[in-house]
This record gives sequence, C-alpha cells and structure tokens, in this order.
Amino acid sequence: MKFNVLTLFPDMFPGTLGGGIVGRALSAGIWDLNVVNIRDFATDARGTVDDEQFGGGAGMVMMAEPIAKAIDSIKEQEPGTRIIYFSPRGRVWTQAMAREFMTNHDHEPRTTILLCGRYEGIDQRVIDEYNIEEISIGDYILSGGEIAAQVFIDSCVRLMDNVAHGGDDTLANESFEIGGLEWPLYTRPSTWRGQSVPEVLLSGHHGNIEVWRKQQSDAITKERRPDLIKRKS
Ligand code: SAH
Repeated sequence: MKFNVLTLFPDMFPGTLGGGIVGRALSAGIWDLNVVNIRDFATDARGTVDDEQFGGGAGMVMMAEPIAKAIDSIKEQEPGTRIIYFSPRGRVWTQAMAREFMTNHDHEPRTTILLCGRYEGIDQRVIDEYNIEEISIGDYILSGGEIAAQVFIDSCVRLMDNVAHGGDDTLANESFEIGGLEWPLYTRPSTWRGQSVPEVLLSGHHGNIEVWRKQQSDAITKERRPDLIKRKS
C-alpha cells in the first residue's frame, strides 16, 4: 500500500509516522510513503502556489494548477489512484471508515493521493475536476492538512497484517471496534500507591474477566459516549 502525500511542507513527513509500529512497518517496506512538494509544480519561477480569494476576504487560496500538476505526476504512473483532500467540510473520519478503506484497498490500485491544504484551503475547481473526496478528522480547524494526513495514514496502517503486536486480537479489542470504549487497563505491580488491581483480573478466571470487562466498557461508553450506543442500534 502506498500513500502519496501532496503538501507544501514535505519536511513534516514522515513525522509521527516514522516512530512506533507504523514507523517500523515503513522501514520494513510493508507500506510506502511518497511525499510530493506541491511547490515543485508551480507555474512561475518564483514558485507561487497561492493567491487572493475571488470575492474578497482575508486569507490566501491554494491555486488549482500546481495541485493539478502534482496530481497528474502521480496519476501518470498510477492511474485510477483515489484522491482524498483533508478539509473540515469532509466526512468525519471514524474507525469504521478506516476499516472500510482498508478492505477496499485489497483491490488494485493500492495507492492513494492525500492532499494537504494550507491557508484558507484550495481552489474548488480542482476538487470538481478530479472528483476529489473530502475527509475531516474532527470538528476543529487545523492550520494545515499534514496532521490530518498522518492521522489518516496511522489509523489505516495499523490495521494492516503484520503491523500491530498481537495481530487481530489486539485490533479487535480496541475502543470503537468493541462497539464502545475500552475497559480500564492495569499492569504490574498489583498494588501501586495503595491502589490495588480489581480482584477479578488476578483471578485467572477468563469467563469472569470477560464479563467484568464488558460491564466496564458498557458503563464507560454509556457515561462518556452515549452516541456510540445509539449509532450501533
Ligand atoms: N478555510 C477552511 C479552513 C482551512 S484550514 C474552512 O473554514 O473550512 C487549512 C487546511 O487545513 C485545510 O485546507 C485542510 O487541508 C486542513 N484542515 C484544517 N482542519 C482540518 C480538519 N478538521 N480535518 C482535516 N483537515 C483539516
């Protein structure tokens, strides 16, 4: 699987994607990262990639042509590549969407273009021209799409085979995957600053442990994220 990131800040990559399990998988060649500097596709000698907004208003807009050329440079080699633009106007990214994305990517082409905006965003015509899908990582405004791209890639790559420790078990037991939020976690020592680990977890009784975890997960989800329960039914 290959991610082509189009950005004005190539130095921001691999960034967080260079560490931990996702970084190891990158070094091992389990997934590929191709970072493209949109400025390399500017049409003037000064490398201009943004301009004032038609209709007036504060803030600059990224011009269509440098972005289009950057997209074309990848599409020439990898036709049919899916294109995603990170934007607060997009569909809000969820674990279910990450799963769906990875399932669809079992098919060719296994490459994706991830477009990172800056300033006020990008010229609408490039979105329309390439029929670009918009994805948001939440209801807040970032100063650029680079963090969003890293969130997107991280959440996808950790679902790949041979990336997460413990494989499918680890992945299946995560918040959102279990239909709610995760139960409380504990590790050694069994008593820390006078606080003990719940007795049931030390009992070795797998059936009881499972029941306890389910109860905890349900209670935490009901209290903190009742919307997740409604979404399920
Ligand atoms: N003017 C825009 C915000 C631009 S923020 C608006 O009001 O909707 C600059 C860039 O950061 C965007 O082009 C986008 O690529 C990225 N960005 C900001 N917030 C984001 C979010 N919540 N999810 C994904 N990308 C985001």
